[in-house]
Amino acid sequence: MPFSDIRGQDRPVEIIKAYIKNGRLEGGYLFTGPAAIGKKMTAKILSQALNCIGNNNEACGLCPSCLKIERNNHPDVHIISNDESQVNPVRNTMQGNVNKMVSNGVKIDAIRRLQKEISLKAYEGRFKVFIIDNAHTLTSEASNCLLKVLEEPPRGSLIILVTDKPNLLFKTITSRCKVLKFRAIKREELEAVLKKDYGLDNGFAHFLAYFSEGRLGEALKLKDTDILNFKNSIIDKFAVPSTLNIEGIKVEDRRDVRLSLNILSAWFRDLYFMKSGMPDLELINYDRRPDLLKTVNRFSHAQLYRIVNVISNTMSYLEHNINTRLLLYNLKAELWAK
Ligand SMILES: [Zn+2]
Repeated sequence: MPFSDIRGQDRPVEIIKAYIKNGRLEGGYLFTGPAAIGKKMTAKILSQALNCIGNNNEACGLCPSCLKIERNNHPDVHIISNDESQVNPVRNTMQGNVNKMVSNGVKIDAIRRLQKEISLKAYEGRFKVFIIDNAHTLTSEASNCLLKVLEEPPRGSLIILVTDKPNLLFKTITSRCKVLKFRAIKREELEAVLKKDYGLDNGFAHFLAYFSEGRLGEALKLKDTDILNFKNSIIDKFAVPSTLNIEGIKVEDRRDVRLSLNILSAWFRDLYFMKSGMPDLELINYDRRPDLLKTVNRFSHAQLYRIVNVISNTMSYLEHNINTRLLLYNLKAELWAK
């Protein structure tokens, strides 16, 4: 896949291309920016460009090297992650591939393997690349081990740390990396991309672009799901009725709870901005404009502001493994206090 397939990240991509052209790539890099906007994808395309057999500083996407990297089974390109959704099913230990799913943080074992692997010559590529996804979850031990590698990175090797929470990284690590900032695309631009490149209709493209806050990866993740019906059912059940009935939210699946809370938050944010006179096209739930208009006078500005904050706090507690049902009861009590 060539660099031109990366949408909306012109600035970091230009910097990377200049680094490749000048042969200045080595050591540690830190790709930061919101989740699901193409940081890891860019890291993989960079790995392909460095190892492509066609070799004109681009990734052809078709040669054996590019294909192996695409499928996460190139012996010189390693993805280290703590994210279960990115489990790499292919592990070729014969080739020393350290691709590994690590639960609850990137642990020292994974970094020790990196340390060992990085000192060896490349097996078949020109560059050894280690992509550490969700790098903010590196444990302190793992961070200290990684620091040693970053102090003296072997030639012909790259370590790319990818994170949406750079503040959680050790400062000593950050200071040894070149930082590239990725940004979400403007929502109207993403809406246009979803229509033009993915053939979505106006209503769905608008909702996805605004709901995912300009994050292409997030929009693409949701595009083949039943998100529109799901969000409308959540709005019908919990937001439009005059009481905020949150007991019906299924607590078994944390991701469902998070999505439901996101939908509610978007709804109340829409009401807040509608009250402030924001143009209707900026509404996430533009498709539900009549219901927003019907509901908007039930709340004061201050109440809506508080509700959005309460939902946002609940979502951050959800990250910390607190009992979900308890959280929802607290949320309800808070919302009732309006
Ligand atoms: Zn290639």
